[in-house]
Amino acid sequence: MTEIQNRWQQLQQRLPPGVNLLAVSKMQPASAVRELAACGQVDFGESRVQEALPKQEALSDLKNLRWHFIGRLQANKVRAVVKAFSWIHSVDSMTLAERVSRIALEEGCCPSVLFQVKLRSDPAKGGWDPQSLRENWPALSRLPGLHSSGLMTMAPLGFDVHERQGLFRDCRNLADELNLTQCSMGMSGDWPEAAACGATWVRVGSALFGARPPLPS
Ligand SMILES: *Cc1c(COP(=O)(O)O)cnc(C)c1O
Repeated sequence: MTEIQNRWQQLQQRLPPGVNLLAVSKMQPASAVRELAACGQVDFGESRVQEALPKQEALSDLKNLRWHFIGRLQANKVRAVVKAFSWIHSVDSMTLAERVSRIALEEGCCPSVLFQVKLRSDPAKGGWDPQSLRENWPALSRLPGLHSSGLMTMAPLGFDVHERQGLFRDCRNLADELNLTQCSMGMSGDWPEAAACGATWVRVGSALFGARPPLPS
């Protein structure tokens, strides 16, 4: 068993029932995805289209992989994302949601969509303000061409464990209020807390694959 496969197995054993592992393979080679696919991992997360597409192509012999887009979604990338990803975790505005809906209908796809929410002020991250999500919900939940499946959130850097737990509980409560099943929250450093607070997806990269290789200079 390889090191990555060993880490995957240990992580799987720690995951509570009902919590799915999204293996975040950004900045990792296709060969690392292949190692995990051999263990039975199906769900992989990528944050940049231009990196994901060649990787998906290199792995096109693996028919059952499910790709999740987790990065900031630019308007001009929506078509490529809708065509190549079955889940989108980062829909953070009404304009973007309408665009995903229109393009998904054109392409004959029906992605599962999570709405990224910003539950604490954080200049570094995007996301719906909860009140604005509530106000837009009647229109948002009726958009054709996509499954409105849940919420996604990220804890601001520097939060302590209690602050993160509070944030994750708020995300779970908001999802429940809107009758949404899925909550995508928790990464390598905080996934156990997120899992304990109602995550259905934890997005784990470095704790699984090891440190990401540095960006080329
Ligand atoms: C990179 C990334 C992750 C995984 O981060 P790790 O700390 O390596 O586990 C999770 N979610 C998003 C949105 C990311 O961009």
